[in-house]
Amino acid sequence: MSQQGYVATPPYSQAQAGMGGCSTGFGNPPPQSHYGVYGSLPQAYSALPTGMLKPPASSPSGMPQPPVSSHYGANIHQNGAHAHGFTPPPVASAPSMSPYGQPPQSAYNSMAQAPPPTQQLTNQMSSMNIAGYGQRPMQAPQSPSSSAPLPFQTSPPPAMGHPPLSPPGQQPPSLGSPPPLASVGSLPAPPMGMSGPSGPGTSLGGGGLQQPLGSQGYPQQPGSPIAGPYGGQMAGPQMMGPPTGAFPGGFHGGPAQMAGPPQKKLDPDSIPGTTQVIEDDQAKRGGQVYVTNIRGQVPPLVTTDFTVQDQGNASPRFMRCTTYSFPCTADLAKQCKVPLAAIIKPFATVPKNETPLYVVNHGEAGPIRCNRCKAYMCPYMQFIDGGRRYQCGFCSCVNEVPVQYFQHLDHMGRRMDLYERPELSLGSYEFVATLDYCKNNKPPNPPAYVFMIDVSYNNIKSGLVKLICEELKILLDRLPKEEGAESSAIKVGFVTYNKILHFYNVKSALAQPQMMMVSDVAEMFLPLLDGFLVNFQESRAVINNLLDQIPDMFADTNESETVFAPVIQAGVEALKAAECSGKLFLFHSSMPTAEAPGKLKNRDDRKLVGTEKEKTLFQPQRGVYEQLAKDCVVQGCCVDLFLFPNQYVDIATMGDVPSRTGGSIYKYSNFQVDVDGQHFLNDLRRDVEQFIGFDAIMRVRTGTGFRATDFFGAVYMNNTTDVEMAAVDCDKAVTVEFKHDDTLSEEAGAVMQCALLYTTISGQRRLRIHNLSLNCCSQLSELYKSCETDALINFFAKSACQAMLNQPLKAVREILVNQTAHMLACYRKNCASPSVASQLILPDAMKVFPVYMNSLLKAPALVGSAELSTDDRAFQRLMVMAMGVEETQVLLYPRLIPLHTMDVGSESIPAPVRSSQERLSETGVFLLENGLFMFLWLGQACPPDLIQNLFNVPSLGHLTTEGQMSLPVLDNAHSRKLHSIISSISQQRAKSMKLLIVKQKDRAEIFFRQHLVEDKGLHGGASYMDFLCYVHREIRQLLT
Ligand SMILES: [Zn+2]
Repeated sequence: MSQQGYVATPPYSQAQAGMGGCSTGFGNPPPQSHYGVYGSLPQAYSALPTGMLKPPASSPSGMPQPPVSSHYGANIHQNGAHAHGFTPPPVASAPSMSPYGQPPQSAYNSMAQAPPPTQQLTNQMSSMNIAGYGQRPMQAPQSPSSSAPLPFQTSPPPAMGHPPLSPPGQQPPSLGSPPPLASVGSLPAPPMGMSGPSGPGTSLGGGGLQQPLGSQGYPQQPGSPIAGPYGGQMAGPQMMGPPTGAFPGGFHGGPAQMAGPPQKKLDPDSIPGTTQVIEDDQAKRGGQVYVTNIRGQVPPLVTTDFTVQDQGNASPRFMRCTTYSFPCTADLAKQCKVPLAAIIKPFATVPKNETPLYVVNHGEAGPIRCNRCKAYMCPYMQFIDGGRRYQCGFCSCVNEVPVQYFQHLDHMGRRMDLYERPELSLGSYEFVATLDYCKNNKPPNPPAYVFMIDVSYNNIKSGLVKLICEELKILLDRLPKEEGAESSAIKVGFVTYNKILHFYNVKSALAQPQMMMVSDVAEMFLPLLDGFLVNFQESRAVINNLLDQIPDMFADTNESETVFAPVIQAGVEALKAAECSGKLFLFHSSMPTAEAPGKLKNRDDRKLVGTEKEKTLFQPQRGVYEQLAKDCVVQGCCVDLFLFPNQYVDIATMGDVPSRTGGSIYKYSNFQVDVDGQHFLNDLRRDVEQFIGFDAIMRVRTGTGFRATDFFGAVYMNNTTDVEMAAVDCDKAVTVEFKHDDTLSEEAGAVMQCALLYTTISGQRRLRIHNLSLNCCSQLSELYKSCETDALINFFAKSACQAMLNQPLKAVREILVNQTAHMLACYRKNCASPSVASQLILPDAMKVFPVYMNSLLKAPALVGSAELSTDDRAFQRLMVMAMGVEETQVLLYPRLIPLHTMDVGSESIPAPVRSSQERLSETGVFLLENGLFMFLWLGQACPPDLIQNLFNVPSLGHLTTEGQMSLPVLDNAHSRKLHSIISSISQQRAKSMKLLIVKQKDRAEIFFRQHLVEDKGLHGGASYMDFLCYVHREIRQLLT
């Protein structure tokens, strides 16, 4: 968030020319329509198409002039701008609103019956017969009469659960009947690729996935012999590689063939490509201003470069949904099986050219909330009765407006001060929280960072301890601080440990730091209170002295055993004693085998892979660690773990506390300072300096008719509604699934409000509010049109990573495949124009969904291969759980960038090509990145002058091999361009990526090839083409 000064004009002063428009100057009144829609009747929400403005003249009488930029009252400031001037308000007198953390009231109590999160994926599929797709799960045909154009609410769906599906006057599709056979012979084969003319969807026909008509017969007879996994119905000879048994049996094969015999292949360009979709969206919406004033508006893709202007809905950077049109009924939702979810990144980084969040201070009265559902004041509250009362947009309860908040309404029923109050006109803003929202009704103390360094033999020998100590001397000057503050309010403390713990007194008055040892690790206590947590600026000399001494103090250590849980416990005790929240930075290298609570044993048994018990490899050891996570969350103690393992360390267990406290896990296997030092330091710097909130609790409220049921993230759930995070940073995202508990109406839409209570880096208690309004539909075509593939895949990735703790991986993969087929079959059945069954028709908004899904199935966590390290798989599982949409997108579809053809004069990153080995060429050089790894791949015959320019050696043969290669910085255009591309990619990513240089046909190339996700998986899993064929067959079975 804004450590830098904010310079952009606040939205209030801008007159937007709609999408793509730019501001017309400081001080101009905004067009009425942008703001007015929120205060008026719900129908007006979506009445205005994007970019269309009502002239101000259309509201001649009584319309208040929108204020100019500086009109926000003294109680409002921009986030970060004046924060240092804040003084906590005095104790609130007789607060009428409940504190945030109190037990939920009324309807929210029913949440207790929600299924536990781990059940989620199963439940989602519960009504699907996994093995029985041939049994027509879609039930009976819809009777034509049900398509009568009656409003949905007044026309209950027919008994079979099918709502009206056709607009008036159109022949309703006959859901259960076979595709129109009569047209088979006469239907022209649609063009290949995604430009097919079949309705709104993408049609793959022609020589693509269409079965050769004539030759094998159509339609498929139920009992017809099926030759391979894809049956005789699919164009068998066109596929690469032999069939390997029914999908996902492809996972059971050994290492897949890397390059099958070049048979007659389909043109890979004929199937939907992610790179093309990304390019098209960038061309269409890139560089534009995305104004959030329209309900149910689908934002640009996460990969597109756009600017957000908040006009009543939260930026997609904060909240992104799987679909922007929720089905009106649970039946419709069940029918299509498209998950309804929002991915919420409450602290997402706001680019410098966008407005930081405003902070609203209502003084001791605190934020205004609905009496019944406790939703916070927002643009969805409707003022009535001359402004004396308001109706809650979430629960419809009519509330009195507090006297001090009263304001007259204009003739449109909007408050005269609409534009002066962020909470009435914006999607995202913050409230200063009153003491009611603080622990023990006391304002919180500033948070603390405790650095805890494993000084056992390995870490000393590798030079890691010295590296950390040197770096901390620089980093402690860069702790995050409030805008305008002279120094950071965050206190710091230091612990070193192996089998025992050493605490340091670094009080500024001391000439030398003092060490206190605790060798009884069974009952961890803090040996000193005063002088342990200090202000770095005050204690700089003592701390630097300590950091100089630590590497020498342990230089001769022989101790290789470590403890782990007691270290975290010590950190919690320190924060408890100081009555503050904070973060522990643990730098640890080995499995904790010393006699102590939380001692671990090697339980890495790869024989379990592929069995019912495989899931146990990823389940953390309970007991000590479970209690520890709970203690941490209660205290607001976040744990960041930097791991430097040389062998198995049981990451499933060691990562458990970090992953339940909003913390991060970093892993540097076989760490060597000269090779990996910079990579680690980049991560450490970013982590220490980043914007963060502490002791956070999040609640997602919804309008009537649906509710949040499941939560996936680096979070702790003590009950079914409160999402607790000891800390939340700018990269952490929580994926929230919604279910119907009643019907939704197209008029009212679906509104949601995420409220995050947290402590700032300077110790203020704040509420961060994000509001989002979606459309509702009684036609599934609307839902499919409004789908967001990147958000969908984030949901599936997280729910699968959650489900794999409790179910066999095979079952999880089957659920994913079946749900993919089901979602697409439902679209085909209800939304696509009639066409031959041999055509695969995909919704336009989901046309690349299969390639992401197939990549997810092959991801190390889910693939189920004994060749992969258990720790690597557990690590990826934990990473995915905390990821936002941007991160899962690039993880599951890595960018493959050709460099040999790059224009060294251009500023931009060359356009990526499809992640497939077919795109590589012997004469080429490619960069591949997925947010975790970055590879530079060098073709065997790549031009020597390019090698000379990049590496300063005359040929490829002069480069040493096996991961030892590094990329020098050279003074030529190619070298500069490559470094600029790498740096620009790195800035977009949450973690630093180590650059691995791979020569074609080297041993290390295997690791690179795992990331070519359109190809057959090296550890099992189908190629994209094969997967698409398989899904197509499943869809056809569902439709017959
Ligand atoms: Zn309410």
